Amino acid sequence: MKLFNTMTRKKEEFVPLEEGKVRMYVCGPTVYNLIHIGNARPMIVFDTVRRYFEYKGYDVNFVSNFTDVDDKIIKKAIEEGVSADEISKRYIAECKKDMEGMNIEPATKNPLATEEICGMVEMIQQLIDKGYAYEKNGTVYFRTRQFKEYGKLSHKNLDDLRSGNRTLLVSGEDEKEDPLDFVLWKPKKEGEPAWESPWSDGRPGWHIECSVMSKKYLGEQIDIHAGGEDLVFPHHENEIAQSEAANGKPFAKYWMHNAFLNIDNHKMSKSLGNFRTVREISEQYDLQVLRFFMLSAHYRSPLNFSADLMEASRNGLERIVNAAENLKYLSGNAKTADMSREETEALAKTEEYVKAFEAAMDDDFNTADAIASVFDLVKYCNTTAGEDSSAAYAKGLLEVLERLCNVLGLIVVKETEMLDEDIEALIEERQAARKAKNFARADEIRDELAARGIILEDTREGVKWKRA
Ligand code: AMP
Ligand code: ZN
Repeated sequence: MKLFNTMTRKKEEFVPLEEGKVRMYVCGPTVYNLIHIGNARPMIVFDTVRRYFEYKGYDVNFVSNFTDVDDKIIKKAIEEGVSADEISKRYIAECKKDMEGMNIEPATKNPLATEEICGMVEMIQQLIDKGYAYEKNGTVYFRTRQFKEYGKLSHKNLDDLRSGNRTLLVSGEDEKEDPLDFVLWKPKKEGEPAWESPWSDGRPGWHIECSVMSKKYLGEQIDIHAGGEDLVFPHHENEIAQSEAANGKPFAKYWMHNAFLNIDNHKMSKSLGNFRTVREISEQYDLQVLRFFMLSAHYRSPLNFSADLMEASRNGLERIVNAAENLKYLSGNAKTADMSREETEALAKTEEYVKAFEAAMDDDFNTADAIASVFDLVKYCNTTAGEDSSAAYAKGLLEVLERLCNVLGLIVVKETEMLDEDIEALIEERQAARKAKNFARADEIRDELAARGIILEDTREGVKWKRA
């Protein structure tokens, strides 16, 4: 499995730090508004990366933060006359609704910056003690000159940057030792949320949040750190400087960045008036269509959002869903149950499509090619399954199709409510498994039922169940 590492600018074989495990951190949104479709791109892309690792049998610890203390949040709170906390809580809840619509798996953990201030104060102090940071009038800065590898991720020429930045220095920042030094802690202004620290009542800089939250929930070294390409510099460069200076070891092994989403070939921006939120799109399309659209391009290629491409995505997704629904219908209405010898062979042939799908995903998550192999499989399903197929054959094809679509996070068969008799049959099977001391199977059945909204209760009178 190969992935492109921004640090080395090469596709590299993925070798986890710990066998069978992936520790992954994705920089999340700043929550002061509904998320826009640009923000949705990293969400969908890195959720798909995670799903593919899971498909490959990895245990993925997936951490993605919400930046809930920031100038933009404070500005919005002042405009509305409410607290910053109210703004961030509101937009975290809204963001989670959009994420559910896009079928993003909930993260293992979504840390909030405001709940991790203690850890940030601790890391800043550590950086000061080691000579990597200094305080001036209540503000703490990172001393970039001290971190010899500064610039290694963005491959920037620091001398050019320094001379460029010197002329850009804004007033109040002339106390910095070097124009590339950046803020770790800043004192509060009137009316701003603030926390106590040894340097001033104030709040952390943005970059330190991610270094601290990543360390707390994933450890000092992680496998993958990801985000949009605008984060390479300065955000990720600064995260590396902070984490490696404080911990004394390499931070992330692989750095992944998605390219930008444009609209009608223009950069999306408020001033151009072409800014689209995920919520607006959801009024026009099922968000599955947006997901399909995002995955129809490679994540490192710029992607252009347009009405035409969304229509094409809607049609593409429909073709897959129709094939899946047809297979479901055939499996429920077949004349024969078991597969013939020919069908067994025909089902085995789907392995080719699975292999092509995996080869595409193994090549730096080439979802565009992966979708092409799903279409090939759809064609195969449509031509080889029909009224004369056995239930097992139609079901077998559907399972393969669903398995691949699930990696892409595309729901192709809507779950129908389970029938009482099916639930009871599974409960009986669970009881039998327990009697036979096959607890793994018994737990699996409980989980399967739970996933479909059925809750079991073991009572003296036997097992009772209810719908959640
Ligand atoms: P922000 O809230 O601006 O920090 O952005 C959250 C995430 O969305 C970051 O990973 C950004 O890189 C990403 N992002 C923002 N705008 C776009 C865009 N137009 N296309 C792709 N990714 C974006
Ligand atoms: Zn970050």
